[in-house]
Amino acid sequence: KADHKGEVINHSVADFVRDEDFVIEIIDRHVAKSKINLGGAPIIVSGGYGVGSAESFELLHELADLLGGEVGATRAAVDAGFTEHERQIGQTGVTVRPKLYIACGISGQIQHVAGMQESSMIISINTDPDAPINTIADYVITGRIEEVIPKLIKYYKQNSK
Ligand SMILES: Cc1cc2nc3c(=O)[nH]c(=O)nc-3n(C[C@H](O)[C@H](O)[C@H](O)COP(=O)(O)OP(=O)(O)OC[C@H]3O[C@@H](n4cnc5c(N)ncnc54)[C@H](O)[C@@H]3O)c2cc1C
Repeated sequence: KADHKGEVINHSVADFVRDEDFVIEIIDRHVAKSKINLGGAPIIVSGGYGVGSAESFELLHELADLLGGEVGATRAAVDAGFTEHERQIGQTGVTVRPKLYIACGISGQIQHVAGMQESSMIISINTDPDAPINTIADYVITGRIEEVIPKLIKYYKQNSK
């Protein structure tokens, strides 16, 4: 309406809200664990059922940390509870294309190979010299994970000082 009269009343926020109402107390800080980034990793140390246990998977983490890489896995290793599902590489997992893929105790079934065969270089560590993965590997180390990985860690440390 044209004859409507209005009045502006300026309220002060301080009259209604106390300073204490804005106080925040930081009780504890939690830093979220960094996300697994398989897609962006230049080096992947990947473990299969042949790694044998969650404890032995820690060896893979040690090597990956040393090389600045990430840890991947086969479905068999994930199903056995050795590591997280987010690390699964293959047909029903992540497809990766790192500069270096170290396949540890992995037989090389097509569903796994589909997700990593584009890697620039593949090293296979397996007790079975006839494991199918060896046919696509650039280098093959025939031996047990429990023995080979600690040696790789040791010699890498010795030679990268
Ligand atoms: C529909 C479908 C989808 C699938 N999707 C995927 C997928 O996305 N990703 C995937 O990985 N699989 C997938 N699979 C499963 C796949 O078929 C294989 O079963 C799986 O990849 C095998 O995993 P592995 O190589 O770790 O185990 P295995 O085939 O059991 O191989 C273990 C290897 O470890 C070696 N070994 C044993 N002990 C030692 C030791 N002490 N040191 C060194 N080597 C040792 C053995 O010689 C062997 O070569 C899928 C299957 C199906 C049917």
